[in-house]
Amino acid sequence: MSDTSEDKPFTQTDWRRLLRSLHEDPDRPGLRETPARVERAWEHWTSGYQQNPAEILKVFEDGAEQYNELIVVRGIPVYSHCEHHLAPFFGTATVGYVPNGRIVGLSKLTRLVDCFAKRLQVQERLTRQVADALMTHLQPIAVGVVVRCRHLCMESRGIRAIGEETVTSAMLGELLTNLGMRTELLSLERNR
Ligand SMILES: [Zn+2]
Repeated sequence: MSDTSEDKPFTQTDWRRLLRSLHEDPDRPGLRETPARVERAWEHWTSGYQQNPAEILKVFEDGAEQYNELIVVRGIPVYSHCEHHLAPFFGTATVGYVPNGRIVGLSKLTRLVDCFAKRLQVQERLTRQVADALMTHLQPIAVGVVVRCRHLCMESRGIRAIGEETVTSAMLGELLTNLGMRTELLSLERNR
């Protein structure tokens, strides 16, 4: 690892070395700009480390005082990279919660998922971190998160069938004990 910059510990020289180790010529025209592009792309794909879930969830919307039913947001995009192969995994998340006087906008839930997805991850931990952050910062009565993703490290190597999804879930608060509520969330999640 280079010690020239704390912000960019992996330099363009390192990417060029990587290309060479893949039996490529980093100086051929098609690859000349690749180290710079890869560097920018990885800055984006790991930008979640610079985001703070507490900051994302600190603004509440008014009018939720009387609302104590399940709020479910489906189809939240997930673009992440597995920490075992640095390969993409992607899909969608469903986030459900029963508010305790505080609700947040849809864009906040999307940003929350993104803040944990744009890190090196395993899907199980990503799912759990989204649920834990909501529980900690929104203090709702219940939280349920279901994530469905395709993992290119598995599909491309023939370990999984093409298009096969990995499904993970995390239930907290009343969703742990209230079977009716959990069934409602899971059926909303499945029947998109
Ligand atoms: Zn992997």
